[in-house]
Amino acid sequence: MAERMSVLYGPDNGRYYYDERDRDAFCPRCKTRLKPVRADRRRLTVRKYDWSYTYDNQLIITRKAKTFLEERGVSGAEFVSVNRSDENFALNSVEVLAFDLSRASVRFIDKCTLCDGYAEVIGPYPAFVKDCPSDTDGLAIYRSDIEFGSHDATGPLILVGERLKAMLAQEFRELHFEPVTCTE
Ligand SMILES: [Zn+2]
Repeated sequence: MAERMSVLYGPDNGRYYYDERDRDAFCPRCKTRLKPVRADRRRLTVRKYDWSYTYDNQLIITRKAKTFLEERGVSGAEFVSVNRSDENFALNSVEVLAFDLSRASVRFIDKCTLCDGYAEVIGPYPAFVKDCPSDTDGLAIYRSDIEFGSHDATGPLILVGERLKAMLAQEFRELHFEPVTCTE
């Protein structure tokens, strides 16, 4: 049986991560993001949820969630503080997993002649990943190589193994998870 991983989702927090000062990071034609934006100057505070997503697809966590990950030795996570405070953090991952495009039915729509990106990348499910870690019970946070979404609201999927999923689901009720099949 193929190993399982999961994509992690939180509720919308009703905010935006990027703003007009980040204009250079986006393609002027198709509006997709050309490069990561890491400036630590967001006017963004989320207290309602420990895990949530902005409208433009950035995962935001609270200090409680960051501490939870750190205390359990979870690897792969990268935290970018927002508002120059230690209240909220943008959570990214430096561990990349490749989508298996021979199995998944991802659609790349409207290739941009200016940046060679796509205006929309949709259809991650059913999700297949071809380079799953050998130990999916390891405590690590991963990101998909493909960024899904459209225009200025794209981002990678955030993936976790089954053991970390169970730990997170027990502690943070707002999270939900979608299954991913490992194909190799
Ligand atoms: Zn473009």
